[in-house]
This record gives sequence, structure tokens and C-alpha cells, in this order.
Amino acid sequence: MAEDRAHYAEADPVKAATRGRCPRCGEGRLFAGFLRLEPRCSACGLDYEFADSGDGPAVFVILLIGFIVCGLALWLEVSVGPPLWVHFVLWVPLILVLCLPLLRVLKGTMIGVQYKNHAAEARIDDGK
Ligand SMILES: [Zn+2]
Repeated sequence: MAEDRAHYAEADPVKAATRGRCPRCGEGRLFAGFLRLEPRCSACGLDYEFADSGDGPAVFVILLIGFIVCGLALWLEVSVGPPLWVHFVLWVPLILVLCLPLLRVLKGTMIGVQYKNHAAEARIDDGK
């Protein structure tokens, strides 16, 4: 991976992720679908086999959006005390609108940071 950096200017992981672009060149598409990755970059040919964000993006989305929505729901319940259907009408669409785009951006960001820091699965060196 080190020799790849000589040919491409380093792309900012957050900027590339926001645009859904390759973490190496910042030009090729990262996503084939909403969250499914392309097999490789169409611009520079970077193989996305290394990319495994796991549950990280979902955990961050749950923590961030859960904090915001739970805070707002508690504030509304304590200050106004609306019927239960009002909570469903307000919070379910808000959760969808906030979570889905953020999930894609965070997945791209984690892959970009993973690429930038050469992160990989840990291996046991048995000394042979
Ligand atoms: Zn690329």
C-alpha cells in the first residue's frame, strides 16, 4: 500500500466519504448500492477487499442519533406531554432521515480511516 501513495495525492477520509468516493484517489465510487461496496475503484483500481467497517458505523449512529432523539423525546414529554401517537409521528421519520445518510457517511469514513492507517485484522505471530 505504501507504493500506492506515491502516485495519488492523499484524499481526506471524511471528504471522500461524504461524497461516497474512493479513500485513495477521492474520485472513483466507493459504494455500488446504498451500503454495498464496489469491488474496486473505477478510477485508480484500488481493491476494496481490505475494507471491513464491521458494526462500527451502526454503533456510532445508534449512539449519536439515539442521544439526540431520546433527548428531544424526553424534553417534549416533560414539557408538553403529548399523546403517544405524536411521538411516533415525530420520531420515527426523524430517526430514518438522520440515521440512513449518516450510516453511509460513517461507513465511508471508517473505510477511509482504515485505508489511511493501514488497519487490518490482528494476526497471531507464532514465531515460525
Ligand atoms: Zn480510487
